[in-house]
Amino acid sequence: MSPQGGEGAAVIVIGGGVTGLSAGWWLARDGIDVLVIEAGAIGWAASGRNGGGCSHHHSPLFLEEQRLWPMLDELLGYPTEFRPNRIRIALDERQFRLYRRALENGARQGFRTDVLDPPQIRELVPFAGEAYGGYFYHFGGHANPHRTVQAYAWALQDHGGRLLQHTPVLGFDTRGNRVAGVRTPRGAFACDQLVIAAGPATGALAAQLGVALPLMSARAEMIVTEPLALMATGAVDGNGLYGRQTLRGNLAYGGGPHEWVELQDVGARAHSTVLQASIARRLYALFPKAAHARVIRSWAGFIENTPDGRPVLDRPASLENLTIATLSSVGFGLSPAAGRAVRDLVVSGRCGFADLSTLRLGRFAGLEPGWRALQGWLPAAAGGE
Ligand SMILES: Cc1cc2nc3c(=O)[nH]c(=O)nc-3n(C[C@H](O)[C@H](O)[C@H](O)COP(=O)(O)OP(=O)(O)OC[C@H]3O[C@@H](n4cnc5c(N)ncnc54)[C@H](O)[C@@H]3O)c2cc1C
Repeated sequence: MSPQGGEGAAVIVIGGGVTGLSAGWWLARDGIDVLVIEAGAIGWAASGRNGGGCSHHHSPLFLEEQRLWPMLDELLGYPTEFRPNRIRIALDERQFRLYRRALENGARQGFRTDVLDPPQIRELVPFAGEAYGGYFYHFGGHANPHRTVQAYAWALQDHGGRLLQHTPVLGFDTRGNRVAGVRTPRGAFACDQLVIAAGPATGALAAQLGVALPLMSARAEMIVTEPLALMATGAVDGNGLYGRQTLRGNLAYGGGPHEWVELQDVGARAHSTVLQASIARRLYALFPKAAHARVIRSWAGFIENTPDGRPVLDRPASLENLTIATLSSVGFGLSPAAGRAVRDLVVSGRCGFADLSTLRLGRFAGLEPGWRALQGWLPAAAGGE
């Protein structure tokens, strides 16, 4: 793949979150001239605000996700703070049945899970109380979102990839059925191939190119406690929460209810104490022996969601050189594999290591125009909190 003349790159990636940065890194390490263009600062969106979970047993990218995370620090040359395995604690029988799905999905793909009884849970998770039961999944794990974003960005640049921050892509130049370049306040940048990996904004950008991608944003919150003694396994969740214990000992947790929001309303609804209190209550029910820990930080993030909750990794038929990558709420953990899949799609038009047929855009062809309302996905202002 040869670079364009003038300002531009062989491949332009829109979006400096984990999807765009991972894709850029995979392309750059193949010697491809790649430019990642980010509207703000890298990782400022969901990629720097998530729970750090890497356990997506329901995804066609799961095996590659599990293969890559344990070697990612070495591949990137920078730390992600990845730690393997996950414990999930059920406080009642309903949760216990629900969390069994991960055991079944994992087993189908060759991964072991141990069922835990309450004494075993107390031994493995010192902060736990009287649980109903739980699981020790010998797969998945967690990593530090900020470290991971930075690691991708540094590794991308080490391989000659370029990164332009504070530069929103505002429009496109097309030539026939090809995207010729992107327009930004810093001028136009030509490209041979374009990847849109812009999180919740992916739909609006794709629409400018005549590609319909149904997406809805949800606002989710996380809370962080003061540091506590380190547990042997940092990825412990349950009781409807997701999260991790950081390597410094903080409990960083989030979990619904998510609020459906329109992108233009996002700035005005940064965080709400109602959701924070709900998360804190559930966290302390999960970890009663940590109930003394104070909540020291919280934040909100915006999750990109497709109607069926699965990512879109595809090359729309209407344009020869466009790849769409939006991960629908599971993008952090899948990022090493998603980036590799995007590299494959850009270079050869197909993914060489996983069957991505369930992630095609065409599955939404028959979607009802009012799909958001039909799913009960109403904006927070209309639906209330
Ligand atoms: C609270 C919370 C908890 C989560 N927990 C987990 C978890 O435990 N595990 C997991 O796997 N996932 C989790 N997720 C989801 C995960 O964070 C996302 O799926 C993932 O970060 C998506 O990455 P991305 O790079 O595709 O998009 P984003 O992180 O949204 O990045 C897109 C980037 O594109 C940029 N952009 C947008 N428009 C333009 C433009 N016009 N020009 C240039 N740049 C543009 C944005 O500024 C942004 O930086 C969570 C999300 C949240 C909010």
